[in-house]
Amino acid sequence: MQFSQFGEKFTRLAGISQLMDDLNQGLKNPDAIMLGGGNPAAIPEMVELFRQETALQLENGALLKAMLNYDGPQGHDGFRQALAELFRKEYGWDISADNIALTNGSQSAFFNLFNLLAGDYADGKKKKVLFPLAPEYIGYADGGLAEDQFVACKPHIDFLENGLFKYQVDFDALEVGDDIGMICVSRPTNPTGNVLTDEEIIKLDEIAQAKNIPLIIDNAYGTPFPHIIFSEVTPFWNQNTILCMSLSKLGLPGLRCGIVIANTAIINALSNISGIINLAPSGIGPALMQRWVESGDILRHSADIIAPFYQQKAQQAVAWLQEAIPAPKLRIHKPEGALFLWLWFEGLPVSCQELYEKLKQHGLIIVPGHYFFPGLPDKNWRHQYECIRLNYAQPEEKVKQGIAILQQVINEL
Ligand code: PLP
Repeated sequence: MQFSQFGEKFTRLAGISQLMDDLNQGLKNPDAIMLGGGNPAAIPEMVELFRQETALQLENGALLKAMLNYDGPQGHDGFRQALAELFRKEYGWDISADNIALTNGSQSAFFNLFNLLAGDYADGKKKKVLFPLAPEYIGYADGGLAEDQFVACKPHIDFLENGLFKYQVDFDALEVGDDIGMICVSRPTNPTGNVLTDEEIIKLDEIAQAKNIPLIIDNAYGTPFPHIIFSEVTPFWNQNTILCMSLSKLGLPGLRCGIVIANTAIINALSNISGIINLAPSGIGPALMQRWVESGDILRHSADIIAPFYQQKAQQAVAWLQEAIPAPKLRIHKPEGALFLWLWFEGLPVSCQELYEKLKQHGLIIVPGHYFFPGLPDKNWRHQYECIRLNYAQPEEKVKQGIAILQQVINEL
């Protein structure tokens, strides 16, 4: 069968497809140690709270109502109003429900935004999405309808004590020409667990405003929910910022509920696209979480249950890794948030893809690091082939076994 250009582009083996495939295989093979995917942990306390809330919303009819009706293309009105109220109250942002659109997971929002604000233009111009701090989220890599729609900038690497390091935006090398349609960062960053500092965000905002292009901040792991973030940062939004959030990392990825906060021109555009592609986003997530947003429980549970759970797991996994493979053989990106540890084996004698294959043969699934550099012009930069991403949020025994396999394979190499 001959596919269209669209078909050919979107049926290539994309990094994200490989990741989802491995995740699926890992789920089918009970012996595989699955430290590859981005599935959030099923935190028992949270699962119990979700169970109680589901029972309550079933009892009072909200869940059934959501199942029996389409919402508008912008998403559930009451939930958007509750979110706007929360952000107004918490941060003083001047927003209303008109500044919020819901999507079926935030992943689909990125696809729409990347193609709304970059790609091919009617006047023949071509614009790209700029990732100012590579490595960046693998899920952005194939989300452009045009070829070569992304460009990324290498980071500055700051070496810290104890075998840790931290990436920083290299503002001296950052070039934002007229061919850039938007700037995009994840904060906390998937795959590294980096959290861009307030100063970095302010500088990026200044650059975006000066160029009259939007700054997307992907807040999938950020604050105030799900708050998988271990450092103090100030949430950021203004009329030029597109803030993308999600209920997924709260522990509810199956709900597919993404939240976009932006100026009304962007929100109206997204709402039109949503009508064409989805009719309406799912109303199940909003029905389930509206009460938590109104009462502030979503913030309390994020800060009191989710953040400490992940922080403890990250610290534990770092300690095990440092004991198993001491620096300088292994350097670990300072874990500041998200579900992942980013491991750098400087001078690794094979590429991270080969390391991935070897680990897979031993029953450990991670994600090779080179996928996380979409748009990086320098394909020869060795660093991108020396790193892997590991999900530390799986059960302790699995993480321990995974680290033992990693230690064995690295020592053999
Ligand atoms: N952004 C980042 C940084 C992610 O890691 C993910 C998922 O792993 C997403 C966005 C998309 O999440 P969802 O579509 O479930 O909201």
